[in-house]
Amino acid sequence: MTLVIYCLQPEKVEFDLKLGQSKPLYNAFKAIRESPDWDGLSDAQKRIVESSIKEAVLGGVSLEDSKREEFNKIQQELTKLSRKFDENVLDATKKFEKLITDKKEIEGLPATALGLAAQTASSKGHENATAENGPWMITLDAPSFMSVMQHAKNRALREEIYRAYVTRASSGELDNTQVIEQILKLRLEKAKLLGYNNYAEVSMATKMATVSKAEELLEKLRSASWNAAVQDMEDLRQFAKSQGAPEANELTHWDTTFWSERLRESKYEINEEELRPYFSLPKVMEGLFSLVKMLFGIDVEPADGVAPVWNTDVRFYLIKDSSAKPISYFYFDPYSRPAEKRGGAWMDEVVARSRVLSDDKTSVRLPIAHMVCNQMPPVGDKPSLMTFREVETVFHEFGHALQHMLTKQDEGLVAGIRGIEWDAVELPSQFMENWCYHRNTLMGIAKHYETGEGLPEEIYQKLLAARTFRAGSLSLRQLKFATVDLELHSKFIPGGSESIYDVDRRVSEKTQVIPPLPEDRFLCSFSHIFAGGYAAGYYSYKWAEVLSADAFSAFEDAGLNDDKAVKETGNRFRETILALGGGKDPLTVFVEFRGREPSPEPLLRHNGLLQKFQLSIAHQISSSQTQNHSSDQEDNMSNLVCFDASVSTVVSAATNPSLFNTPLLPFTTEVFFLNFPKTPRIIRLQTPKILCANLTTAQLGDDAQEVEIAEGYTMTKFCDKMIDVFLNEKPEPKDWMGYLVFREDWNKYRENFYNRCKSRADTENDFTMKQRLVTLATEVKRVDDEMERHAELLKQVEDSPMDINAIVTRRRKDFTGEFFRYLTVVQETHDSLEDRDAVARLGARCLSAVSAYDNTLETVETLDDAQAKFEDILDSPSIEAACAKIKSLAKAKELDSSLILLINSAWASAKESPTMKNEVKAIMYELYKATKKSLKSIAPKEIKLLKYLLNFTDPEERFSALATAFSPGKDNEARNPNAIYTTPKELHKWITIMLDAYQLHKDETGIEEAKEMNLPMVIQRLSILKETIEEEYLEKETPEAKKDTDDADADAEEF
Ligand SMILES: [Zn+2]
Repeated sequence: MTLVIYCLQPEKVEFDLKLGQSKPLYNAFKAIRESPDWDGLSDAQKRIVESSIKEAVLGGVSLEDSKREEFNKIQQELTKLSRKFDENVLDATKKFEKLITDKKEIEGLPATALGLAAQTASSKGHENATAENGPWMITLDAPSFMSVMQHAKNRALREEIYRAYVTRASSGELDNTQVIEQILKLRLEKAKLLGYNNYAEVSMATKMATVSKAEELLEKLRSASWNAAVQDMEDLRQFAKSQGAPEANELTHWDTTFWSERLRESKYEINEEELRPYFSLPKVMEGLFSLVKMLFGIDVEPADGVAPVWNTDVRFYLIKDSSAKPISYFYFDPYSRPAEKRGGAWMDEVVARSRVLSDDKTSVRLPIAHMVCNQMPPVGDKPSLMTFREVETVFHEFGHALQHMLTKQDEGLVAGIRGIEWDAVELPSQFMENWCYHRNTLMGIAKHYETGEGLPEEIYQKLLAARTFRAGSLSLRQLKFATVDLELHSKFIPGGSESIYDVDRRVSEKTQVIPPLPEDRFLCSFSHIFAGGYAAGYYSYKWAEVLSADAFSAFEDAGLNDDKAVKETGNRFRETILALGGGKDPLTVFVEFRGREPSPEPLLRHNGLLQKFQLSIAHQISSSQTQNHSSDQEDNMSNLVCFDASVSTVVSAATNPSLFNTPLLPFTTEVFFLNFPKTPRIIRLQTPKILCANLTTAQLGDDAQEVEIAEGYTMTKFCDKMIDVFLNEKPEPKDWMGYLVFREDWNKYRENFYNRCKSRADTENDFTMKQRLVTLATEVKRVDDEMERHAELLKQVEDSPMDINAIVTRRRKDFTGEFFRYLTVVQETHDSLEDRDAVARLGARCLSAVSAYDNTLETVETLDDAQAKFEDILDSPSIEAACAKIKSLAKAKELDSSLILLINSAWASAKESPTMKNEVKAIMYELYKATKKSLKSIAPKEIKLLKYLLNFTDPEERFSALATAFSPGKDNEARNPNAIYTTPKELHKWITIMLDAYQLHKDETGIEEAKEMNLPMVIQRLSILKETIEEEYLEKETPEAKKDTDDADADAEEF
């Protein structure tokens, strides 16, 4: 998560110092500043001059010679100390190893973590280590440390590892205590030399914030987070107790991570480890790239081999703009390598965009970035599987990289991430993280690496809910780091009565619900501020969070599902935040993008820490209820509330997204929009039930909707209104569906509705009217029951979209025209295009499953034919003869896909069968092998086509390639001689054969061979192709493609 300018080499420091202290340069800049040409300079040039002057002053230029010497000595010393600090942390981390041989000791660790621990053990001389049987090596590297904290049931182990972790680099040769004290002392001296009171002031001199503003923000956030964090701890205790944990009443540092992980699992049933298979690195990167293509109109392409890399795992990429012009490059180094790489993730520049530094001085040198993460490397045949958090991290670092790479500044000194105030530097990165929660984006990347199955909807919902899980605690943690950093650099007196650890403890009292251990030496590994560039700047994470949350809310305001609006907003983001770099004051840049100054409200909303605001609204509502309301208490609408304010205020308060998205209050609200018959919508909001009754219509405009709300409805009035609509407007039954489609709402009113019909019929004197009321109730009941059945079926389909075929097979008769009409109605109830689209696609899948089911009859002939051939093969006198038959069928091009499928599935079921004799199994296996071998020699055109299709990662391109392949056109039309034509059905069959063969193949030959099959990319892409064909084509039949010449060299094994 760090954007770190890491320890600089002394020679470079010296050079920088000379440059920074160059009087001629300083004077030159000052001359420019004072010259009459000043006004003619660009914003970027002015910023460069001004910040260069400021930097020169901060760099000691204005110092007298003797003082400058002292200053330089301090700088050199500080550089050495920072490097020493960092080396100590790395060495201390590396030094700790814990070998575990008894499996009981690491119980609870997930398979991936065990795999990593075994791999580590194996790399340290225990060559035979396996995930299953050990031995396992635990280290203090982030993935290893975290897996123990989160999952080890062994409390003693957790304690041991925790203590080792928080005391890193705090004793013996690697002790950082003196290093820290020395750093703080020298930083203070440096500040004094420059005429400042403390180092924080020096740091803030080039930042957006001031010391007091930063402190103010931290305190504001701290007080908003504290109660929530205390409650988090209480929840944890209660939960641990309920799980029978003996430590429940004394939960401490090595328990909180473990138990919050369990609580998260139980509350959201999301086990981060179980989510890993859905986030394979290749898919995540693919999704990230297509997101930035949509937002910013850029293409990211692999460019491996174009530039040398420092490790074989490192990838190289090229970025092109919409006119296909290269604009930048980046390296990506994804995996953890404990021996040579520190933990965490970061991005930095390799070179920045610059006109001056280009070869010819007229074009520009393109920027290059590097991005480094510490994910679990691929283990065995598994790709790197990521936690959701790691996915966010990749998005985060890529946000930094984007700002570096999409810059339009040609002035190298302010291009990309250069020259940007620290407090604003995390804006693009944290902004990108928000997209991980965006439905389309997330669903696009979350595909199971083995099955290609998408992330189940309920998990997505839980991820959203989990976003605010322990938000108070997490916020406090960051606030602790930020506060201790500011304290040490503003108030701390080196050598004074308070030690650095005293300061840490004092800050912890306000920021940690559980006090730290007496021996806690977290400061000794706080590289951010002692070895990185975050000294008196850690607060900038929070500062930038305010900016980034607010920037994302611009997309929320525009409508996340409105592609056009998102693209426009994305373009504006690119042209301002990403393009202007450090060439403009960050506040001005922000205002250019957002149209106003930043607001902290979106951050509090995203963090679920808006309760105070929400409660004050609730209070307002409930107090106005007691004042103004009593007459509407009839029926069962007693929890309705009068709101003595203008309707638009109420509606806008209630529809305010900041209220809408977070579970705010212990009760729900409904605003009734009863503008029958167009949209009988009952908009449910998570705020108290609101009924606006105390307004005179005079206060309102002409808006009928507002008037109706203002008039207020009791349940009786509500039912009467519905009856009126049904009787007087005589809607078609299709429209009735529209009224009843909101099942949850309708369920609340149905009884009242029927009762009201009945009671009105009972008291009605007009016989015709009486009849009509009775008929109405019966009719509505009929539609109602029908809707119930459809809804139930829809739910089943929604719950297991992968089993649609099975559901159709079981319940073919329920998939009626009425059901599909119902789907259309459901579709119309959704406001967002995305949701509408989802229903429409589900409908299309149902339809194609139904037609596939119904079409089975058509293929009976083909099947019979295949069956006959298969039986003939089985009738052979010997196994050799049978294999020979397969070979000759292949030669005669009669080994068709139906027959191959038949043979494959015969072997598959033979293998599974508990009753079949071994000899029979052996025969099936031989036949299967012979078929596979023959496949190599026949290489049908579909194989060739598949190879071609597998190269498409872009869904649209894939789609159009498929469309070409499936549209042979008329025979007399000129055809592309290079294109391969086939039918969707045939290609679908071949994909099935490939996937089938892969499954069989994998089981019988083990990992090595499966690995050669280039897993899991190809399998995934095959699955995607299969799904695309099923969704888009399977209900349509294209005419049989004419026989094409086969390519004898194509090799099915490659798949
Ligand atoms: Zn960052």
